[in-house]
Amino acid sequence: MDVIKVILKTSSTSNMAKSVVIVIGAIIISLVLSSLYTTLNPTYVTRTEYLTLTEYRTQTEYRTLTETTTITRKPPPPSRTVIFRLDDVAPRFLPTVAREIVETFLRKGVPLTVAIVPNNRGITILDDVELSLFLRTVAKNSGLIEIAMHGWNHTEYPTGGEFKGRPFEDQLYYILEGKRLLDHVFSNATGPVVTFTVTYNLYDENTVKAAKQAGFKIFSSKLKQHWWDNGVTPPTRHNNFHEGLLFLDWNFYLIKDETTFELHAANEVLETCRLRTALYGVCVIMFHVQELSMNWQDRVDLDKLRKFEAILDSLLGAGEFEFMTMSSYYLRRSAAANP
Ligand SMILES: [Zn+2]
Repeated sequence: MDVIKVILKTSSTSNMAKSVVIVIGAIIISLVLSSLYTTLNPTYVTRTEYLTLTEYRTQTEYRTLTETTTITRKPPPPSRTVIFRLDDVAPRFLPTVAREIVETFLRKGVPLTVAIVPNNRGITILDDVELSLFLRTVAKNSGLIEIAMHGWNHTEYPTGGEFKGRPFEDQLYYILEGKRLLDHVFSNATGPVVTFTVTYNLYDENTVKAAKQAGFKIFSSKLKQHWWDNGVTPPTRHNNFHEGLLFLDWNFYLIKDETTFELHAANEVLETCRLRTALYGVCVIMFHVQELSMNWQDRVDLDKLRKFEAILDSLLGAGEFEFMTMSSYYLRRSAAANP
């Protein structure tokens, strides 16, 4: 019997000890779990019912303040801007085609920088009343069209292009003359012309100085994207201020084949815009009036126009880009540079 009693006693002591261990274990586990819960859920939602109103308010305000601070400290989202630059709009040069292109942008609600050659072989923008009136009206009424200057007379001199290598005084004279004519026609409708686009993508430092002195704010030529291409603007200058001018060089040519004027397919344009905006923050797409014409005649190539509309639709449909003119981009860029 004694043996049985001892066994019973021992077994009851052992059960008690087990129970104690289980209870302590349960307490430890619940403590660990509750501290983990608090760590993972810093919102204190489950605790609010135990807080006084003041404590609750303090915690809520604290959380709101913290959240606000986080939002203001967040870096701004990278710019994904697409700019269309239409070159070679000129007095008495393919007026029907130029008009159709501009109207396409208006229909789609996409901004366009229209780069005008002020002097086409002696015919100036003052002589082409129809073109001037049309552009004045749509630029003023839509707010989507920017009037820019594309060189002076688009002549290729032996020094290379219209400006490169020519004396500073000569460059300044023709740049001032072009701006004077364009401002005369457009400035009371759209404000002064502020974008200068280089003909033949050929310029030198005197061109930059002359453009600045003539009152331009934006300088646009072609970005040198690879060591082997004929772009002249180094990437460090592109989308940055240099000599007081914002450099916004075209970095994508809408045309795939320069002899047939075949356009890039819509998906190629979309992919390139993604790549260029990722690289530079802005994708400047350049094209010319004649590229949507019927073999340089003043008739629109309707197949190309449809393809072109598909390009615009695909970029708009992607919902990833912001479309701007060079001058509207400049306003934002200069505000960011001088906060
Ligand atoms: Zn040109």
